[in-house]
Amino acid sequence: MPLYQEQNLKVYNSISGNKENFKPINNGYVGMYVCGPTVYSNVHLGNVRTFMSFDMIFRYLKHLGFKVRYVRNITDAGHLENDADEGEDRIAKKARLEQIEPMEVVQMYTVDFHNILNKFNCLPPSIEPTATGHIIEQIDIIKIILNKDFAYEVNGSVYFDVLKFNKTHNYGKLSGRNVEDLIHNTRALDGQSDKKNPQDFALWKKAEPQHIMRWPSPWSDGFPGWHLECTAMSTKYLGEQFDIHGGGMDLKFPHHECEIAQAEACNGHSPVNYWMHANMLTLNGQKMAKSTGNNILPAEIFSGKNDKLSKAFSPSVTRFFMMQAHYRSILDFSSNAIEASEKGYHKLMDAINTLKSIQKSDTSTFDVRSWSQKCYDALNDDFNTPILIAELFSAVKLINQVKDQKATLTSDDLHFLTNQMNALVFDVLGLTNDTLTQDNHNTLSNTVEVLIKLRAEARANKDFALSDKIRDELSAIGIQLKDGKDGTSFTTN
Ligand code: AMP
Ligand code: ZN
Repeated sequence: MPLYQEQNLKVYNSISGNKENFKPINNGYVGMYVCGPTVYSNVHLGNVRTFMSFDMIFRYLKHLGFKVRYVRNITDAGHLENDADEGEDRIAKKARLEQIEPMEVVQMYTVDFHNILNKFNCLPPSIEPTATGHIIEQIDIIKIILNKDFAYEVNGSVYFDVLKFNKTHNYGKLSGRNVEDLIHNTRALDGQSDKKNPQDFALWKKAEPQHIMRWPSPWSDGFPGWHLECTAMSTKYLGEQFDIHGGGMDLKFPHHECEIAQAEACNGHSPVNYWMHANMLTLNGQKMAKSTGNNILPAEIFSGKNDKLSKAFSPSVTRFFMMQAHYRSILDFSSNAIEASEKGYHKLMDAINTLKSIQKSDTSTFDVRSWSQKCYDALNDDFNTPILIAELFSAVKLINQVKDQKATLTSDDLHFLTNQMNALVFDVLGLTNDTLTQDNHNTLSNTVEVLIKLRAEARANKDFALSDKIRDELSAIGIQLKDGKDGTSFTTN
């Protein structure tokens, strides 16, 4: 029997404001869409937090036995400097400043994004579609919305008619804003805009002559509005109605509100059953953001090269730091806080390493099964990782007591505990055991040192064929030897 039948998962649904029983549309299958990055700059640690939160959610759903199709897009066109349809395309602007092709910008930062998420042990999504790869699908949706009369064309651009839509639907139901307030609070149009009302948003924009990222359409050579790609790609890969849609809290409005409006206008019903929003990582109490410079980059965390950091921290320690907060809570980053996490992380890994060598007994003084259920209860309660981690530390305490012969475990219980610790720590939280990595590294160094010595001996014996063979074969597997004044050293790639 799959685990999801035994465990009652509850998910906080941003649209209802309640924790709801999680019931996918198709029994055993979950469709999940998460808004991906706009690839015009390096991701900062705040972006990483959101993707890591959904990685943990993806991992737990899989752990429960669901077959998950996880779609996370790459925004490579259509996201303008200003979220209200103004300014240059972010990617085109970067390309102009760097004097390179927009697609070079896209490639560079997509590769960076993948490398970074890989370092943090985030699993790749099942499908990673791009906005530029789905222009046809976006144009098709605009045609339907125009046909249904929820959009209008002006001078080659197409806008969504928010007031018209709101007469029969509820624009604002996710973000809690109402159209009346929006009318009062939105800046008046500057006279240059083609919009009927300032709260309308672009589905298609005619490209100015200097705008290089452009595609033909029935209305003009232009480009799609930012919100449209997510409607097009989620519908294409997950259907008109799917289970989970996620993203950072800051995407609720306007991005997700507009996605709901587009999908309802196009298909006549709500696209998503559970809206999930991950909260922000802050620095000095302010949201980490690219634009303000108030951020830390993953590379800075790994090197320790940032004034705000006392030292370097590994990806695993950083991930543990993030998992110690609930995904819906704001988390403030500080060097002190992550140093405390580092201590906790090592305590946890030491206990896991100890598990391999502890003694078994005929009786147990600890109920491992009820402990395990408490761990699941935490995760079932809207993915409560801080409570899970508190439970993991109950197990750490037990493991240390067994080691000191102050508690006992039967062989079965020890086996069960080991499996559960591994499943929860590595499969669900996605941590890796750096202490083992360190051990592997030491073994590699010692082995290469032996080969370096043999090579030196071969050279001393003038057996250059052998010494070259050692160097070349090591090089072929990515280990480069370097001869210097103080002997031979090596690097790996
Ligand atoms: P962007 O590339 O700007 O579209 O952002 C990618 C993702 O990172 C979105 O889901 C944002 O909500 C999220 N994000 C941006 N800043 C932060 C932050 N400080 N903390 C957590 N998530 C963030
Ligand atoms: Zn999106």
